[in-house]
Amino acid sequence: MTHIAFIGLGNMGGPMASNLVKHGHHVVGFDLSTDAGARLVAGGGKTAGSIADAIDGAEIVITMLPAGNQVEEVYTGASGILAHMPAGALLIDCSTIDVATARSVAAVAAEKGFSMLDAPVSGGVTGAEAATLTFMVGGTAEAFAKAEPVLDVMGKTVVHAGDAGSGQAAKICNNMILGVSMIAVSEAFALADRLGLDRQKLFDISSQSSGQCWSMTTYCPVPGPVPTSPANRHYLPGFTAAMMLKDLRLSQEAAKASGSSTPLGGHAMEIYTRFCDAGNAGLDFSGIFRSIRKSAD
Ligand code: NAD
Repeated sequence: MTHIAFIGLGNMGGPMASNLVKHGHHVVGFDLSTDAGARLVAGGGKTAGSIADAIDGAEIVITMLPAGNQVEEVYTGASGILAHMPAGALLIDCSTIDVATARSVAAVAAEKGFSMLDAPVSGGVTGAEAATLTFMVGGTAEAFAKAEPVLDVMGKTVVHAGDAGSGQAAKICNNMILGVSMIAVSEAFALADRLGLDRQKLFDISSQSSGQCWSMTTYCPVPGPVPTSPANRHYLPGFTAAMMLKDLRLSQEAAKASGSSTPLGGHAMEIYTRFCDAGNAGLDFSGIFRSIRKSAD
């Protein structure tokens, strides 16, 4: 049993922390929202009233926060983790944030003598609940070896991507593929509708052909072919369009900073910007199908 502090108990962090409890770990959570800890407590975990209380005695601290500014604040702020951290504890940030912040916070942690990993995930809320997430991990090999048994409890694939920041680099590259492929699959279904091709037939063929991809086979953006996809529940998230836009922005900032050419990633960011600006930010990102289908009308 490991004593783990878990900061950020939202859509992802909540079920991830609960899976740690199920595997016998001693988990103390903290979230700004008091409601967020309810599931953890129901599952046998504990919650604390502050970061300092949550991390007291912890061997490992895991964070799952919205974006880079919250990660910076929670680690380096006056009442943050590094100000109260027990010596020797391992820090793991699972949030999706920009590479530069991941590297700078890890550097501050290292200056204070702590090992820190960036370990963003893929797999969504379903993966968090089912403990089938993919972890992409940046940091030292020693820290990775220490973290791996704990990450294994919350996921099915855990990959050491390289030094600090490499997990975030992998995540934004992966999600740029996802944003582009979701738009491509949605355009194909909208075209099929126009051509009088049955949606199920397109799915039966493309899911077994060269058009096969996760956006088609696991997260199909039209209702019917994949019963578990958000399209079957009015595009309730899931993974919100706002989160997808955040990741596409991170990918384009990283592309600009590194001098990379990513025209499709840039166009996907524009398409999701328009979708979010039209009041759809809280919908699942696969809801982009509806606006693509509509713009063809
Ligand atoms: P969420 O908004 O549901 O949860 C974030 C939680 O952090 C909230 O409960 C919020 O109250 C808490 N929080 C914010 N600031 C805090 C602070 N200073 N101290 C303590 N708690 C604080 O978001 P989520 O969907 O769980 O996503 C978390 C991260 O995971 C994001 O970086 C997101 O990009 C990434 N992610 C999400 C998904 C998904 O499908 N939702 C998939 C992969 C990765």
